[in-house]
Amino acid sequence: MTDGVTNCDVLVVGAGPGGGNAALQSARLGLSTIIIEDHEEIGTPVHCGECISEIACQNLNLDLPEEVISMRVHGIRVIFPDGTEKCLTEEGYVLEKHLFERWIADEAVSAGASLSLGHKLTSMEKVDNGSFGGWICDGKGEQFPIHAKIVIDASGVAAVCSKKVMMDDGSPLNEQGKVVAGMQYELTDVPTDGYLDFYIWPEYAEKGYLWMIPKCDGRANVGLVTEDRPRAKRALDEFIDKTHFKELEQVLPPWKEKGNPAFGGTIPISGPFRNTHFDGLMLVGDAAGFTSPLFEGGSHLALKSAVYAAETAAAAISEGDLSSDRLSEYTRLWKAEFPPYDKILKGKNALFELTDKEMSLMAGCFPDEMSNMGVSGKAMVAIRLLLRSPGLYFKRIVPAMLAFGYSRAKYYGW
Ligand SMILES: Cc1cc2nc3c(=O)[nH]c(=O)nc-3n(C[C@H](O)[C@H](O)[C@H](O)COP(=O)(O)OP(=O)(O)OC[C@H]3O[C@@H](n4cnc5c(N)ncnc54)[C@H](O)[C@@H]3O)c2cc1C
Repeated sequence: MTDGVTNCDVLVVGAGPGGGNAALQSARLGLSTIIIEDHEEIGTPVHCGECISEIACQNLNLDLPEEVISMRVHGIRVIFPDGTEKCLTEEGYVLEKHLFERWIADEAVSAGASLSLGHKLTSMEKVDNGSFGGWICDGKGEQFPIHAKIVIDASGVAAVCSKKVMMDDGSPLNEQGKVVAGMQYELTDVPTDGYLDFYIWPEYAEKGYLWMIPKCDGRANVGLVTEDRPRAKRALDEFIDKTHFKELEQVLPPWKEKGNPAFGGTIPISGPFRNTHFDGLMLVGDAAGFTSPLFEGGSHLALKSAVYAAETAAAAISEGDLSSDRLSEYTRLWKAEFPPYDKILKGKNALFELTDKEMSLMAGCFPDEMSNMGVSGKAMVAIRLLLRSPGLYFKRIVPAMLAFGYSRAKYYGW
């Protein structure tokens, strides 16, 4: 490559969980790796409820250092509109997510990756040496231009490469998908028994839910995701005002020195993008549309897709074949592993077609512990429903039930 161009095997765009892990795994596989992050520091502003399951950590071989763990939790308690409570017990963690992301990036640097903060990718051009020869990437930051054999897009909901890369017919790599708004406050002195409380209360969170995610020292994230984006903050304020959270103090989270105490972001909800690989390019995490449909968790999916992208990059580079065909291996890997998005989405839609009363009635038929229902447990729910409300049984309740099952950690729910 010409002078003034920084060369690498892999350029990772974005230093969230997906990008950090893509860089870490790429570096460990011996690839010369550059990771760039638009912001001047990693992990802030936090745009996450900050929970991750123990199963996710095991699946990813993550040995979390104590300083990134805010609290160990027992699982999720789902609270239905009439107050009925049901548990999905499975151990996990609430993180100090910005510290978690910094830890992964530090691990990547220790493994040999080069990290550049304050670097924003704004354009990329194919190198054509008769065959595909990588990407020349440009943007804001002194490391640019960067020539990378393979780019891993981990830019989150910005999905920058999907917009910048054009197909042969001139259309962008992927159409922009739908997003929902997520917003939360940090409250103090929040009572907890170590469960994440997820309120399915459509009155405040349209086709979404509200949460209380406990942290250390009595702190907690109290927030919501909703499809009614313009009303998100107002709806969260109303929810807090109408519940026991009203009495509690709102504080700035530790990483925020001043400004509005509310923090959050947007979450892709259209499902995996049509194209998650291309010549010399793979999309991971939110940038690929990987979120779990019912509770919108995305960290586990981002971290795991990063593993597949790094492994595929290493194999493709060693074979000297950076083509879309070769990288289709990545898409095959995640498709074989991640749960069927459409099926869970169908369940979510079926759930939100129910009235509050129907939802609560359905919940009343669930066992107190939903994590391991098994065939006999499901049959019992079906019998109870048939006895209490036969009409409801035939109202696509089965997919709605399955949506809860698929929100468990082993299905990448969190
Ligand atoms: C309010 C809220 C609560 C949530 N709660 C949870 C939860 O509790 N558990 C869970 O698992 N998931 C949760 N999620 C989802 C989770 O945060 C995301 O799925 C996860 O962060 C995705 O990781 P990622 O690495 O793909 O993207 P991100 O974490 O979004 O990281 C993308 C990074 O790329 C950078 N970037 C963007 N564009 C560029 C560019 N052009 N150049 C360079 N860098 C760029 C960004 O600055 C960012 O740092 C929540 C989301 C929201 C909004």
